[in-house]
Amino acid sequence: MNYNEIRRKTRAVSVGDFIIGGTAPLSVQSMTNTDPHDYEATLAQIKALKAAGCDVVRVTVPDEEAADVLYRLKCADIGMPIVADIHFDYRLAVLSAERGADKIRINPGNIGDDGRVKAVTDACRAHGVPIRIGVNSGSLEKHILHKYGAPTAEALCESALYHMRLLEKFDFFDIVISIKASDVATMIAANRLLAARCDYPIHLGVTEAGSGDRGRIKSAIGVGALLADGIGDTLRISLTAYPVEEIAAARDILSALHIAGQSGLDVVSCPTCGRTRIDLIDLSERFRKAAKENCLEDLPVKVALMGCAVNGPGEAKEADIGICGGDGEALLIAHGEIVEKIPEDRIIERLIGELKKLKES
Ligand code: SF4
Repeated sequence: MNYNEIRRKTRAVSVGDFIIGGTAPLSVQSMTNTDPHDYEATLAQIKALKAAGCDVVRVTVPDEEAADVLYRLKCADIGMPIVADIHFDYRLAVLSAERGADKIRINPGNIGDDGRVKAVTDACRAHGVPIRIGVNSGSLEKHILHKYGAPTAEALCESALYHMRLLEKFDFFDIVISIKASDVATMIAANRLLAARCDYPIHLGVTEAGSGDRGRIKSAIGVGALLADGIGDTLRISLTAYPVEEIAAARDILSALHIAGQSGLDVVSCPTCGRTRIDLIDLSERFRKAAKENCLEDLPVKVALMGCAVNGPGEAKEADIGICGGDGEALLIAHGEIVEKIPEDRIIERLIGELKKLKES
């Protein structure tokens, strides 16, 4: 899918040398979970995130010492924008802008009077730093919660617009907005409301999605539904896990939607049934492992692993390469043409061999 063909029109916001919104490719973000005072550990985790495909990293800045670490991280040339996550203390937002943060995540409605909001917008403007407003269902403002009685989609959207207007009041428009909720349906509805009411880039995420498959599924539904609507300019998959795992999950979502510039190996495999005469479940797992070991996961190629001749030839025809299972053997199909019949124990080796050829071509 060419995402820009369906994408909601948004402003382009510069985050360091990086662009969020406009027609810039969707970016994947994560957040470090190391002690923000531990420079070495945070740098190591940022490098691991970068190697995994992270585009933008966020670190929490709870005090001045952490702002100093942020400055050292910027000096270390980490190769991607760094976002300072600030809660409540406007002075830390000002300090982070001065110390080289590429973006500040702060909710202006939570930092006090207009003077403080102006101090933050002045510092961000002076240093070319945008602000992300991050509305979260768990920390909705009391007056909005009182009006709606619960963190509904309307309440979350109203909160985002409230923070947005506080920044606009000081002629500050370099804004990215996120509305996150742990309830997937609420998160989707709130972002749809927001998308219709402003043209700022939207950062997508299901907050506190959890761990393992459940966290990934919740995130895939929430983020995926909005992306399929053309809503979203950057995203973070929040998992209760080592942050690097968030990147693989985000890339899988983008890949499943065939979003331009983000696709990797797309493996289509049938669920197997009574007709299957090869061990397709084991073969599929071994194929994924072999593709990873041979660094083929980023190859933008569609592979079909089909159990039999019912749907096999059709799916394999649509793929760049595929197999169609028989009894202890399979047909190897490349670009719709049958190449050869291969015994079951050589299927992985042949597929990997063909993918390597495609990678080199
Ligand atoms: Fe069954 Fe064949 Fe369909 Fe696979 S492709 S589920 S083996 S009918």
